[in-house]
Amino acid sequence: MPIADITMVTHSHAILNIALLSKRGKPFLHFYALLGAVLPDVPMFVFFIVESMIRKTPQRELWGSRYFMEAWQTFFDLFNAVPLILIVLGIGYYLLNSERLTVFAWSMLLHCGFDFLTHHDDGHHHFFPLSDFVFESPISYWDRDHYGGIVAPIERLVTLVASIYLFPRLKTRLARWSLIAINVLSLGSYLLFFLFRSR
Ligand SMILES: [Zn+2]
Repeated sequence: MPIADITMVTHSHAILNIALLSKRGKPFLHFYALLGAVLPDVPMFVFFIVESMIRKTPQRELWGSRYFMEAWQTFFDLFNAVPLILIVLGIGYYLLNSERLTVFAWSMLLHCGFDFLTHHDDGHHHFFPLSDFVFESPISYWDRDHYGGIVAPIERLVTLVASIYLFPRLKTRLARWSLIAINVLSLGSYLLFFLFRSR
C-alpha cells in the first residue's frame, strides 16, 4: 500500500463527511467535519513519517510488518475507537450542547464506518479498548485481491459527486479552490496511473 493510497482516501473521507454533515447557513461546521474526517488517519501519517523518513525503514517492511506492530496498532486504534468517539459525542451533545463538537464526533464515526466497510486485513480494532474484534470486510479500498480495482474508481466517483454537491455550500475562495485542486489531483493521478500501467 503506497502512501498515495492513504492520502487519497483521507481526502475522500474529508469531502464526503463535509458534504454529509453540511448544514444550510452554517458553513462554520465544515471545519469541524473536516477535523473529524482527517483525525483518524493522522496517526498513519505520523507512522509514515517516523518509519520512512526518520528510521528509514524499507517500504516493504513498512507495510508488511512495521504497520502491524502492536505499539503502532494501538496508536492507530486510539483514533479509530468507536467507544471513545461515542464518549466525545456524548460530551458534545449532552454535556456541552456543542454543535461543533457533535459534528466533529459524527465525522469521526463516519470515517470509522467507511473504514469498517473497506478494509480487508488492515482494519482497526473498532471497539478498542473494549474488544479486539476486527471486521474483515470482503472488499478493500486498495487491495486488488479484494475488489480494490472496482472500489477505488467508485470511491473517486462518489467523491466527485459529493464535491459537486458541496461546492455551492462553500463560502470562502480558499475552500472552493482547495476542493477543485483536490479533485483535479486525485482524478489526474488516477488517470496517469492507468496510462502508465497500460504501457
Ligand atoms: Zn481511516
